[in-house]
Amino acid sequence: MEVVRSIFSCWFSSSSRRSNRLWSSGASDKNKAMVEQLQRYGVIKSTKVAEVMETIDRGLFVPPGGSPYFDSPMSIGYNATISAPHMHAACLELLEDHLQPGMRVLDVGSGTGYLTACFALMVGPEGRAVGVEHIPELVASSTENIKKSAAAPQLDDGSLSIHIADGREGWPELAPYDSIHVGAAAPQIPEALIEQLKPGGRMVIPVGTVFQELKVVDKKPDGSVSVRDETSVRYVPLTSKDAQLHSD
Ligand code: SAH
Repeated sequence: MEVVRSIFSCWFSSSSRRSNRLWSSGASDKNKAMVEQLQRYGVIKSTKVAEVMETIDRGLFVPPGGSPYFDSPMSIGYNATISAPHMHAACLELLEDHLQPGMRVLDVGSGTGYLTACFALMVGPEGRAVGVEHIPELVASSTENIKKSAAAPQLDDGSLSIHIADGREGWPELAPYDSIHVGAAAPQIPEALIEQLKPGGRMVIPVGTVFQELKVVDKKPDGSVSVRDETSVRYVPLTSKDAQLHSD
């Protein structure tokens, strides 16, 4: 989905391939090794983010035949991709203060459901993690993925839900949100998402078409909004379902 810090990605992929050969053990060890690499490289700094990424096995979310523990985006069909592990980690780090137990988080373009599951663990059963995805088949498969993961109890207790909708409109029923993550690049920041951000809340959103920047949008307690660029990225577009399905 995105090409960012490409030197790091190449380094990580080859080093991860080496460690995958050394690891003859199971998926959870490979997932742990992936998290440790991200910690060593300084992408993951927070213990909480590391714990959550260790607890949610990325292997459950990547379609068969993929390489879930390589630091690379992977195709998930429907002209969509699961983001690379370092992007998931970077977004969790950026949002951590706004993913405290009991908080509300909206994941726009939830795709495989991986990050929505991580968000659910961060905010806990007393919080609310809401995924919005416009491809019904991805909503169905992401729900199945989550059922196999450590976030399954939160699907049952209703603190995690995934909805079929156009994410450019957000999910007003459960607004306002402490955190909003957008997993696809918008030509500009959708007004509805700014409206649904709680004062004191933060949104992370890739913006742009050919050249994209990951923007960090902070709504201050007085309601004023500040926007800064975090890094250059490459995501699939936040667009209509028709445009996405007929983009090749
Ligand atoms: N964070 C997800 C990213 C998936 S790729 C993951 O790592 O698994 C981006 C997703 O955004 C795709 O699943 C795509 O179908 C979805 N998407 C694009 N435009 C959308 C829109 N307008 N509304 C809802 N989802 C959208």
